[in-house]
Amino acid sequence: MTIRRRCYMCEAEGSTSEHVPPRALFPQAKDAAGQDHRADLITVPSCELHNMGKSRDDEFLMVSLVGIIGNNSIGYRHKFTKVNRAIRRTSYKLLMEAFVSKPKLHAVDLGNNRFIDVLWGTPDQARLAFCFERIVRGLHYHHFGIPYAGQVKVLIGYLSYEAGSTRNLQRFMLDKAEMELECRPKFGRNQDVFYYQLTDPDEFGLYLFRLCFYGGVNVYVSLIPGSAEAPTHLGFELMKRGIKTIFTLGDRTYDVDFGEEDSRCEASPTMPAKPCNRTSNRDWPSHVSTPHHLAI
Ligand SMILES: [Zn+2]
Repeated sequence: MTIRRRCYMCEAEGSTSEHVPPRALFPQAKDAAGQDHRADLITVPSCELHNMGKSRDDEFLMVSLVGIIGNNSIGYRHKFTKVNRAIRRTSYKLLMEAFVSKPKLHAVDLGNNRFIDVLWGTPDQARLAFCFERIVRGLHYHHFGIPYAGQVKVLIGYLSYEAGSTRNLQRFMLDKAEMELECRPKFGRNQDVFYYQLTDPDEFGLYLFRLCFYGGVNVYVSLIPGSAEAPTHLGFELMKRGIKTIFTLGDRTYDVDFGEEDSRCEASPTMPAKPCNRTSNRDWPSHVSTPHHLAI
């Protein structure tokens, strides 16, 4: 008897196989000084529909995650090999797709006439959230052997916000997530590139996944089962009504007041290039040394 494998996203038959997270995030040995980061990658069954167009999202995610501040040396090396090749091959279109508006180039002073160039702009958060949701649904299938039917909410931990209240709220949620995930086991065979952790369900059936890329780029995803009663949190209700709210966690406090400031702030990821000597443009990586290529 043949066991019919279901797609990780829908009821259809999973006739193809998909890597979660995408294989493009894992450096090949030729780009990683002979080190193999592609051992035992996680795969799940996928239907034709959910596999379609996936490679474009995979490249988008790769460009969005690799080389940003927080990456370990494996992430940076991946940036200066495979990722830059892909960016050049698409005449920088791939890089521009990572942002919703034209990013700005900044040189950050490292001292001793050494600078690091970063691209600063607003990322395509909706597309990022879509990609992370797919990863978590795939990991759920892999971890528990069944597709996940409920809702998910994505918190992109590595983005920095300019407005005080959004930043404080993000800080509160990140600190809370870190407390809940402390000491939880880490899953994944190539943990310098990727691992995940998850909490046990709380009294509402909610639980949390942490995705960690390149040693320090974190994304948190809450899973909210369809059957769960949405919990009412007084702090969040007050905050949504524009009332100044102070969240506390241990001895830390976080002020949130959307009544007084514009909450439509911009999130700014940084995409650094290698440290370079400011006086010598020739040493700059091509995608930042030729800003005219950055025009959309
Ligand atoms: Zn499907």
